[in-house]
Amino acid sequence: MFSKLFPIVIITCLLSACATSPTGRSQFIFMPDTQINQMGLQAFDTLKRDKKISYNGQYNQATTCIANAITQVVGGSWEVVVFEDSSPNAFALPGNKIGVHTGMLKLVDNQEQLAAVIGHEIGHVLAKHSNERASQEIAMNQGLNILQAMTMPTSALGQLGFGLLGVGAEYGILKPYGRTQENEADIIGVDLMAKAGFDPRYSVSLWQKMEQASQGKQTVEFMSTHPSHATRIQNLEQRMPQAMGLYQQAQSMGKQPRCA
Ligand SMILES: [Zn+2]
Repeated sequence: MFSKLFPIVIITCLLSACATSPTGRSQFIFMPDTQINQMGLQAFDTLKRDKKISYNGQYNQATTCIANAITQVVGGSWEVVVFEDSSPNAFALPGNKIGVHTGMLKLVDNQEQLAAVIGHEIGHVLAKHSNERASQEIAMNQGLNILQAMTMPTSALGQLGFGLLGVGAEYGILKPYGRTQENEADIIGVDLMAKAGFDPRYSVSLWQKMEQASQGKQTVEFMSTHPSHATRIQNLEQRMPQAMGLYQQAQSMGKQPRCA
């Protein structure tokens, strides 16, 4: 049934562009959201199975507090887990899952920078970038197989799935987001952190810090999947007047998170 349906779906998508992202961009998306969410949930379960979870009280308290402030803006219930992993990385998955490495918590200077990271990651989820990547790369009839493969992250299909979700580095595959998706996640992210009451100007210092860190000897996993383009800081600065307006609004509503 799917193989007959598939060309029709593609044509319909091409004609109607299928979806519009939160920034108003037309997207080619044809995977059902339920399936992409299932992939995210399964990937998160696999990561929790394979990785060491951190029980550092300070880290967990700060991460949960910052993530809660941001997800309150977005709505829905989100699960947040801190992983014991020295590589500075963080991710958010379809199905409302957020993972932060202890290495990222060590790297950031303040709550605002971690809010910028989490806001950016949630931006990828809200703009359905995993679905977009999957729609571009896999046929509908692979969909069920890829879901099953999410418990076997080292299989070929499992690697593809983890790569599409942006957490493939865990299993030896890096699939960087493209420039369009990065810029979009930046814009959504900076708006989100501002609406949650975090000073959005720290998003710029966060990326500067990331770039500095990645110039050192240690590879920064986060930078491998979220490549920095020359225009990133320029785009963030362009968005700043609007983000500052949202920040002032949030502050006047009493949103002044003290997470760390
Ligand atoms: Zn990104």
